[in-house]
Amino acid sequence: MICLRCDAAWPVETYAAGCPRCASEGHASNLKLVYADRSRGIRLPETLELGEGGTRCVELPTLAQTMKVGRLTAKLEWCNPTGSHKDRMSARLIARALSCNVPLVVAASSGNGGLSIAAYAARAGLPTEIAVTAALAPSYRRAIAAHGARLVEAPDSLGRWEHLAHRVTEGAFAATNYRLPAIGTDPFGIEGYKTLSAELSGSERPDIIVVPSSRGDLLSGLRLGFEEIGGIPPRLIAVEPFPRLARVMAGEDYRLRYEGHTAQVSTAGETVTFQALAALRATGGLAVPVDDTAARQAQAALAACGLHAELSAAAGLTALEAMARDGCLAGRHVTLVLTGSGLRDPGAHDLDPRPHTDERPQAAAPPAMPGFLPPRTETSVQQRDNG
Ligand SMILES: [Zn+2]
Repeated sequence: MICLRCDAAWPVETYAAGCPRCASEGHASNLKLVYADRSRGIRLPETLELGEGGTRCVELPTLAQTMKVGRLTAKLEWCNPTGSHKDRMSARLIARALSCNVPLVVAASSGNGGLSIAAYAARAGLPTEIAVTAALAPSYRRAIAAHGARLVEAPDSLGRWEHLAHRVTEGAFAATNYRLPAIGTDPFGIEGYKTLSAELSGSERPDIIVVPSSRGDLLSGLRLGFEEIGGIPPRLIAVEPFPRLARVMAGEDYRLRYEGHTAQVSTAGETVTFQALAALRATGGLAVPVDDTAARQAQAALAACGLHAELSAAAGLTALEAMARDGCLAGRHVTLVLTGSGLRDPGAHDLDPRPHTDERPQAAAPPAMPGFLPPRTETSVQQRDNG
């Protein structure tokens, strides 16, 4: 296992604080898995399949034309077994938990992740606790309980992490981040997102991938996957509900907390991770905040094309509109990762009721991005941290 920040190598274990060297210096950095066989192609740890991955990518020609994007596709991650991209990660996390002979799997979740972990843990026969808040939608609550997982209600978002930290001291395997500063999910889980890179490679490889993001597990897995496959990686655009990663990209410390409230529950939270920052830097990417009003308009525009995405995923369309405004994406292929459906999304119950004569999101797009898609630069060790 190698640190994403300092490149130190460590034996394969579970590292609660991420890279031990970075932790001793007051940093918080995730590790990645490396393999003895470095031949080309994706290498993956053991999995516990429920049929995850292999989701369809559909064309959105009318939106592409309206937004002056060369080609626009949407990767339908809600076609995974429990309805979100998280299944790619859960399959590996639960396989890892099994191999570690843990007595319990714990996860903090706002919905998609907890349901996915509960399903895969049920398949493996592992006891599971999902820490949630009162805000969890009843549909998720019922589905998680149906898999036999125990729901633990915390007073707030960070209270969930405290519960996980306590369980980890008792020997539980944490299937989500629970640390402050945040690190991200166990590297074995993030490996699962390399399958998405593989599916988006070949002749269909997009130039840009728009990814809903909070702690950057998906961003980091995509980046690592494309690095393993080789060639020029697509630029990764992180969409977030309020400026967090965007502020870190502008020079603030990734270890700080960035307050904000949002109905985009799948990407809520106050933290940023080094792995998210590193993924954007490595791919010449960008973080784009999209507020809830704009995200709802984008959700309606996508729904008019037959795709009812969760709010945080629909926000990607608004981010794209802002980036494409000056026609600079006319020759580019952009893929939106639609992480989950709007059907069970509590933020989705307020679809913009106004009739749409134009497919584009109509208002509150983020300001145009000066320096959008800057030239790629090699990241030196000295440049690696903010703070
Ligand atoms: Zn390190």
